[in-house]
Amino acid sequence: MKLPIYMDYNATTPVDPKVLEAMLPYFKEEFGNAASRSHSFGWRAEEAVEHARAQVAAAIGASPKEIIWTSGATESNNIAIKGVAAMYADKGRHIITQPTEHKAVIDPCKYLEQHGYQVTFLPVDKYGMVDPEDVRKAITSETVLVSIMHGNNEIGTLQPIGEIGRICKAQGVLFHTDACQTFAKLPINVEEMGIDLLSCSGHKIYGPKGVGALYVRRKNPRVRCEPVLHGGGHERGIRSGTLNVPGIVGMGRAAELCVRHQAEELARVTALRDRLKDGILGRLSHVYLNGHPTQRIPNNLNLSFLYVEGESLMMGFNDIAVSSGSACTSASLEPSYVLKALGLGDDLAHSSIRFSVGRFTTAEEVDYAIERVCTAVERLRELSPLYEMVQEGIDLSKVQWAAH
Ligand SMILES: *Cc1c(COP(=O)(O)O)cnc(C)c1O
Repeated sequence: MKLPIYMDYNATTPVDPKVLEAMLPYFKEEFGNAASRSHSFGWRAEEAVEHARAQVAAAIGASPKEIIWTSGATESNNIAIKGVAAMYADKGRHIITQPTEHKAVIDPCKYLEQHGYQVTFLPVDKYGMVDPEDVRKAITSETVLVSIMHGNNEIGTLQPIGEIGRICKAQGVLFHTDACQTFAKLPINVEEMGIDLLSCSGHKIYGPKGVGALYVRRKNPRVRCEPVLHGGGHERGIRSGTLNVPGIVGMGRAAELCVRHQAEELARVTALRDRLKDGILGRLSHVYLNGHPTQRIPNNLNLSFLYVEGESLMMGFNDIAVSSGSACTSASLEPSYVLKALGLGDDLAHSSIRFSVGRFTTAEEVDYAIERVCTAVERLRELSPLYEMVQEGIDLSKVQWAAH
């Protein structure tokens, strides 16, 4: 077993060697510009891009023509939200989303709020789940887009996107989903789920960073989208710029591999995650699972270890790579906005750790992590006066703390 151990697959994944192998020729002899129509260098690059487009489309039951290449899910989310808002501004200026979305959805919505749009942030329950009935009730004649993610990157909760999609279809409102964490890893079908726009990214599926895709429905209804970048008119005019051919080839191959091994990987990764969960919960008390107990992405385990502080805990097992709070905001000491949205108190939010396993995780690594994590928690709790009081049977909620 090699140290350090990587358990942060929700933040990014290593490139699969098979993916790298598919990409390499497109850095070397096959370096053509996919938009060059006058020679074979361009034709071969275009052929590779179209093959990858079909691979990505197949993962979600879409047609290849409905896939737009982007630089990643952040860009896909921006195009979906700002592009639809701009295109349909005459119809209405109301958007519906929810508070545990990735910042790449929250921030474009906030941007629109500052530019004359109205944004409804639906409530979530204690597991971070949206009630589809609340979506139905929030839709007005002004609503142009509903954007609700599939799998949450921090707490793992899966939103009922099939039901939400059906409600949006019945009301004639466009539905976008950020499916970064589930694309190609869980079954998704844009027809059955009523999805009009879907964002995904290469580096969450064992492909390269800096490449992503946006599914944009072409019929029933035909979705139109203002571009965010203006230029040569590539990608149906929605996303100009010379295509990242090696990255695109890698994302296509990565999607194909995920889909091919989807069922077995789902079972394997779920078993590893549950082994980690059972190992930790079997040994430690006062540990809480964040996110939905069953409706969650298979590789995510987000736990709060009461009476210890997340950042200190991570330092106690520094040969295991995990994250506390959200990877994107962990530079600040603010508790995670996602955990706050579930109604978690600061104590639980500050003591949370996200473990995420994946394709290259082994049972041996999981067992090592259980031992290291439990030992670190036990050590820190020995030093904690609060934990000592709890052990003595004192109810902390009834303690009269001296005023400063
Ligand atoms: C990683 C992630 C993103 C951002 O994707 P990039 O390709 O890194 O821009 C957006 N949404 C979710 C849910 C993610 O997990």
